[in-house]
Amino acid sequence: MSNTARNRYSDLEIHGLEMSAHHPSGEIPVLHDITLNIPSAQVTAIVGESGSGKTMSMRGISGLLPGGGNFTVRGDVLYNGRHLAPGTNGADSETSPKFAMIFQDPKKVLNPGLRVGQHLTEVLRYASGFTGRDSRLQRIERAQEILGRVDLPTDRRFFRSFPHELSGGMQQRLVIACVVAGENDVLIADEAITALDSRTAARILDLFHDIAGNMGKTVVYISHDLKTVERIASHVAVLYAGYTVEYRNSRDFFSMPRHPYSRMLMESHPALRDRGRPLRIIPGEAVSPADPPPGCPFHPRCPRAQQTCREVLPQLIPDTGGAVRCHFPYPEKGNGEKDSTRKNSGAPGAGEQFNE
Ligand code: SF4
Repeated sequence: MSNTARNRYSDLEIHGLEMSAHHPSGEIPVLHDITLNIPSAQVTAIVGESGSGKTMSMRGISGLLPGGGNFTVRGDVLYNGRHLAPGTNGADSETSPKFAMIFQDPKKVLNPGLRVGQHLTEVLRYASGFTGRDSRLQRIERAQEILGRVDLPTDRRFFRSFPHELSGGMQQRLVIACVVAGENDVLIADEAITALDSRTAARILDLFHDIAGNMGKTVVYISHDLKTVERIASHVAVLYAGYTVEYRNSRDFFSMPRHPYSRMLMESHPALRDRGRPLRIIPGEAVSPADPPPGCPFHPRCPRAQQTCREVLPQLIPDTGGAVRCHFPYPEKGNGEKDSTRKNSGAPGAGEQFNE
């Protein structure tokens, strides 16, 4: 297990999560070392390019693995300070949380033959103990209450609608309503607003914020879009090639990212780059966790890379407000030119620009 900042107040802690896929030719690495804290009743964002391990790390800890789970998962996962076997997903109600995932396309989840009300009352029948004949009215009342919480109509007409009669935003809200009805503890939203128009997406983001802040659920928001992450996340984890490369609170992350990859992600985002500076593209291709280069997996694309980076894998080192995996990170906020790592190493200065 790597060095990491352990936060005893975190509800969900992941330490050194590794995963490999079984294949006739052998084990194929999927994750190498995912380490992060996911606080309760807040939104934690996981960002990174495709193949970085965003989705697979959450699938690994929850057990919601594709293809029935033809994977080996190792590492420490703690929920409220108690060890949890990765992949149990509510199997032991005393220790393991219930996870639910929300994906980009709600149509793949909703049953086209079930009405809105049936979707919710069926979930409530199994999740909330409203099972007897007398409980039918309770289920309907609870379903209407949940529809209201996710900003959907509660009238009889809407209750009897079929999914195909709803807009994409309404379908996504219905999926979220089912997750709430299922009394899940951890909601994982995987690129859940990507297919929505900007206004509808903004309302869904507000809903995630409400689910965390007012309903007390833990929300993990997986996204490519740092602008939406900045809007709702309290903490940010950046993944690259199956490693956590940076984790910190959102305010510090957006004001002073320390890992070169984090900074390049921001500089390449049209809405986040510094005003007046040209939009920059991250050079090269993302590295696959299955075949990382020796040393730091980011070194082929990194403008700060030194010989050490090509030979030695950096560890995730705790710092103020989070942790970073880099031999030559940018200085901590307020530390400016006093950054000892950079001074001693001869690494590029904090003001350098990438891809130049
Ligand atoms: S360890 Fe080296 S190559 Fe890797 S991100 Fe840091 S400076 Fe760049």
